Amino acid sequence: MSTSSDQHYVNRRVLKINVGFLLAEGVGYFRDMVIELPRVQLDDDLTLDFLRGNLRLSRNSRGVLVQGQLETHVLSECTRCLRPIFVPVFLEIEELFAFPPSALVAFSVAETGILDLAPLIREEAILGVPMVALCRPDCAGLCPQCGHDLNEGPCECVQEQIDPRLEILRAHLRSARPQTNDE
Ligand SMILES: [Zn+2]
Ligand SMILES: [Zn+2]
Repeated sequence: MSTSSDQHYVNRRVLKINVGFLLAEGVGYFRDMVIELPRVQLDDDLTLDFLRGNLRLSRNSRGVLVQGQLETHVLSECTRCLRPIFVPVFLEIEELFAFPPSALVAFSVAETGILDLAPLIREEAILGVPMVALCRPDCAGLCPQCGHDLNEGPCECVQEQIDPRLEILRAHLRSARPQTNDE
């Protein structure tokens, strides 16, 4: 889970696939593809550290069926301390892209023969991020009072809570000690 930003991005346009060759073929024809992308920004709010796996595109009577498994790391944030982290997400893909394009289904192949995987991968990646994702299992989180990142050490609030009690204890010991010494 690195968050290094020096890595180059690829444009989400790489997920637009020309499936004209599939549309020209008969039902039952398929093509296997290997997806191997470096960091890709799918949207302003969705970055994948990488995207890789295998997809099968099959021509059927209703369009092109996309099936396969993809693996990615989705840029998210730690639920406790809000640091940016990449969360591993496994995508199980099985979706029909209608052709001719149809407004009645979620995904279509464009008239031009372009099948854009980006909206599908966006949807699956967002769904795949768990409700609770931690930068590390023992993340200490943020102080609920001042917002200090407790992974970097305690904040003033913690000390203020402890000090008065320690003072009472010290005062008690101070007042108790001379009596025991005298007796
Ligand atoms: Zn954290
Ligand atoms: Zn605090």
